[in-house]
Amino acid sequence: MSKTLQAIRGMNDLLPDQTPLWRYFESTVAGLLDTYGYRQVRMPIVEFTELFKRSIGEVTDIVEKEMYTFEDRNGDSLTLRPEGTAACVRAMLEHGLTGGGQVQKLWYIGPMFRHERPQKGRYRQFHQIGLEVFNLEGPDIDAELIVFTARLWKALGISDAVTLELNSLGTSEARARYRGALVEFLTAHLDKIDEDSQRRLKTNPLRVLDTKHPETQAVLVNAPKLADYLDEESRVHFEGLKARLDAVGIPYVINPKLVRGLDYYSKTVFEWVTDKLGAQGTVCAGGRYDGLVEQMGGKPTPGVGFAMGIERLILMLETLGQVPESIARTVDVYLCAFGEQAELAGLALTERLRDQLPGLRLQVNAGAGSFKSQFKKADKSGALYALILGDDELAQQVVGFKPLRGQGEQQNIAWDALAEHLASCVVQG
Ligand code: ATP
Ligand code: MG
Repeated sequence: MSKTLQAIRGMNDLLPDQTPLWRYFESTVAGLLDTYGYRQVRMPIVEFTELFKRSIGEVTDIVEKEMYTFEDRNGDSLTLRPEGTAACVRAMLEHGLTGGGQVQKLWYIGPMFRHERPQKGRYRQFHQIGLEVFNLEGPDIDAELIVFTARLWKALGISDAVTLELNSLGTSEARARYRGALVEFLTAHLDKIDEDSQRRLKTNPLRVLDTKHPETQAVLVNAPKLADYLDEESRVHFEGLKARLDAVGIPYVINPKLVRGLDYYSKTVFEWVTDKLGAQGTVCAGGRYDGLVEQMGGKPTPGVGFAMGIERLILMLETLGQVPESIARTVDVYLCAFGEQAELAGLALTERLRDQLPGLRLQVNAGAGSFKSQFKKADKSGALYALILGDDELAQQVVGFKPLRGQGEQQNIAWDALAEHLASCVVQG
């Protein structure tokens, strides 16, 4: 017997039972983005590998070990996008949309690919919604991004389960000075830090701050602090951000160890974290990347953005019981028709109903069947009402209107009166 074909590990199907919650999530976010004036962009899922090497940085976890990279038939090295910012910047540059100081407030949604160890909240194909803003220096816009996310958590009913962590990485000059001090300090304690950190010390020293290794963490207690190396401009920027968050009452925790995995951040960095998902605690992360556009070949262009992990947020909604009841039901009315003539009349009737009540979720029985089997299907569909059309109803030009969830008795309704009747009990109710 041939082996059953399977999906790739860490790449999940989203089955029909799960998609209503995803669609609820996506439409909640998209609706809110509209109200803040963000416009959607859609980039390809595959880009030249060079794009990610140049933007994300060669010595990051993503580029070193997580990318899905392959040669296409022309011999070009291509990569499934591991994140959205690089492609978004590429698209802006390619179409000249950030030149001359044009402000862009953008968002995107879609799958991202990273070859990581799959576990709860961590997959190889996962989905993000990201925002990117170009040509605004902040801190007002940095605050807006955070304020937006706070409003989203509220709309989703998960505010109490997430915490905002903030830090400032300073300008690249300030960070370079700090990096020097950190390297000097860690080199003097080389024998007490773990192997991975020793390696990072050479490639990307700030990432050592991110270590999970207890002994290295102990050494870091006495390490120089990034905050002490912040330049005046970044300090003022950070104060401005905090003042705005205070003004709208959004609490935050300053986390001096928050450095983010990607090379391109400067000044503001932030993460929304939760303790409800075990080890995969970050649901949304981002920051300012003023140097990135220039690094990718454009004119100096301030930028700031973030991305949220949709799988982790969906898990949160489920864990916290914040799945709205209304999304469980996907059928309002189910038509059962018995016999060829009734089926024909039923189709004409239901198509007329769809004209009259465009929002009505109306399922027409397919595959004929006995009374018993059609009622069973009607009930299983989750519909509130069954419409019944047999020879008797046909002769009288009525339908049997049968509540399926115990809201009253079955009655006959004239075809002409059906739309109005349904409007009163389904569309508005
Ligand atoms: P982590 O530290 O958890 O690996 P990251 O810093 O690599 O996260 P980002 O690149 O900042 O993550 O991506 C933004 C968000 O996308 C994360 O906060 C997380 O919610 C989500 N995310 C990142 N990688 C994955 C993954 N492999 N599976 C599911 N969600 C992910
Ligand atoms: Mg990661």
